[in-house]
Amino acid sequence: MAAQPESFESSALQYTLLLLVLVVSCGFLTLLISYLSSVSFRRLHRLLTAMPMAVAIVRSKDGQLVYANRACRELLGVRKINDRYLYPDALSATMLCDFLRPLASLSEFVHVRDELPGVDGKPIALSISGQAIRCRWQDCWLLSIVPDKAAQRNQIKLEEEPKLFQQVLNSLSELVYFQNNAGEVIGTNKAFDRFWRGRYDEGMESIKEVGRIGNSASHTWTTAPDGTSRLLESNRTQLVDDNGGVFGTLSISHDVTDWHEMQEVLKSEIEKREITEQELAQRNSLLDTILSASRDPIGMYNEQGVYVICNEPFARALGHTQTGLLGKSARDVLTGEQYESFCQTDQKVINEGRSIKTDDYVVLEDGTPIWYEVLKSPYLDPTDGTNGVLVMARDVTERKMAEQQLADAIMELQELSFVDSLTKVANRRSFDEQMRKLWFSHMREQQPLTLILCDIDYFKAFNDNYGHQQGDFALREVAKIFSSVIKRETDEVARYGGEEFAFLLPNTDLPGGEVVAAEIHQALADVGLTHLYSEVDTKLTVSLGVATLTPQPNQDYGELVEMADIALYKAKAAGRNCTMSLTAVADLAGADTNHR
Ligand code: GH3
Ligand code: MG
Ligand code: MG
Repeated sequence: MAAQPESFESSALQYTLLLLVLVVSCGFLTLLISYLSSVSFRRLHRLLTAMPMAVAIVRSKDGQLVYANRACRELLGVRKINDRYLYPDALSATMLCDFLRPLASLSEFVHVRDELPGVDGKPIALSISGQAIRCRWQDCWLLSIVPDKAAQRNQIKLEEEPKLFQQVLNSLSELVYFQNNAGEVIGTNKAFDRFWRGRYDEGMESIKEVGRIGNSASHTWTTAPDGTSRLLESNRTQLVDDNGGVFGTLSISHDVTDWHEMQEVLKSEIEKREITEQELAQRNSLLDTILSASRDPIGMYNEQGVYVICNEPFARALGHTQTGLLGKSARDVLTGEQYESFCQTDQKVINEGRSIKTDDYVVLEDGTPIWYEVLKSPYLDPTDGTNGVLVMARDVTERKMAEQQLADAIMELQELSFVDSLTKVANRRSFDEQMRKLWFSHMREQQPLTLILCDIDYFKAFNDNYGHQQGDFALREVAKIFSSVIKRETDEVARYGGEEFAFLLPNTDLPGGEVVAAEIHQALADVGLTHLYSEVDTKLTVSLGVATLTPQPNQDYGELVEMADIALYKAKAAGRNCTMSLTAVADLAGADTNHR
């Protein structure tokens, strides 16, 4: 039993000694660790201080700064007083706690973006990476902090945006203003201010007239600063925030006076055009009516000779139908000769700008001949300035026929008045006329004029025995023979009376006349017209009286006729079928005879 207490005491001592050794060892170990720890922190401190990147050691539990290197102090404005690091006024330990709280479960994190107040107190975008460490016996975060360039750019953009927005608004010519939901104006642009300067209320009042939001544009007449009347077109739009809430309205007005005036001008132009078109349509229909109602051919072709307007009679005159002719060229429709002659007059019409009247003869397809009086007039198209020719033709066939008949009748009448109807040689009237003319011309020129008077012998007996018709026949035959005898163009034979003829021989003296007289006798004998009841021959014979005179101013052509008549009388008295001549009135008493 005694051994037990002794053992107990010895064990207790052993335990105490053991405990003491343990405590001493632990203390020693702690001191060692503490020393080592302070040595490694100083090393870390030296290392971090030289780093160009901002680095901070923050206590996990309360966000207090344990360390901040120079770069960090410059970036965030951290102050260092002795060994203590103090946040700037804008930055607090709570902010750091708030930032780190969601990351507490991690041992490290990389590039977490956040905004913290910078050295000037303005928030700067940062990219923060962290490593959980033990520092000075406490849980800490070793944070490396770098500015977030991309976020910073965004930040700058955000800061610039309102400025830019205002500039854009001010550069607009439209009048822009914003109202909040209470109807108070919260912003305007320069154009708005300029327009409504000094009469802001008037501007508000005027824009109040703008219709409800979402409606189409409203128009309001108002007065501009320069006193002119201007028309404003205004629109209103709701302003909606990011959450879809309406926080005001945006009103935009712009001056549409010029546009409005242009519209008005345009409207009046359109009205005028409509009126013109109506008038044109009326004229066209009038033209169509005239064209289709006219029996006269009417047509028009342009400078190239292409038919642009025509009626049926016009087309028919050219051997076509109206629809068949339009659009065709005159070159293809007319014959070469017609086309050439058309071209000549067309050129005159276009170049000289005057109307030309021509006559045209056309034979229709059914063979009907038609005379047209054609009036060609120049035409200038006012729309495109092209020239053309308007053709209006009138059927003058009846008139032409009448003219022809008249001409024929006149001709006939002329013949009747100067030609003997039975023998077709010149009549007595013609003889007298010719005698008078020749008498005076011979008087002027002092040329001899010879007259032969001729009388058929015993013609009464011819008539009585052979009948009057045979007598007429014999007279026609004698006239033919006499016409063949006279050779000179200027000589003339005329029926002087019943069975008497006269020969007028200009520039012919008596011997010349006697030669012609002999030819007359010979020609009659050559033909030999039977006259069994003549007392001088069995053939038809004549007696001739020839007289020649060079007319003197105191004389009358009756003297020549009288001389020839006396000569003829003398020939009858001398037994017929012979010629007697007289050269002067002085010879009237005695006559030179010239018997056959
Ligand atoms: P002479 O030899 O003396 O001339 O005798 P003549 O019978 O010819 O003369 P006269 O004067 O007695 O007769 C003329 C005749 O001529 C009278 C008439 O019968 C005839 N005569 C006159 N004119 C025409 C006529 O136009 N036709 C016909 N058939 N006979 C006519
Ligand atoms: Mg007679
Ligand atoms: Mg006779």
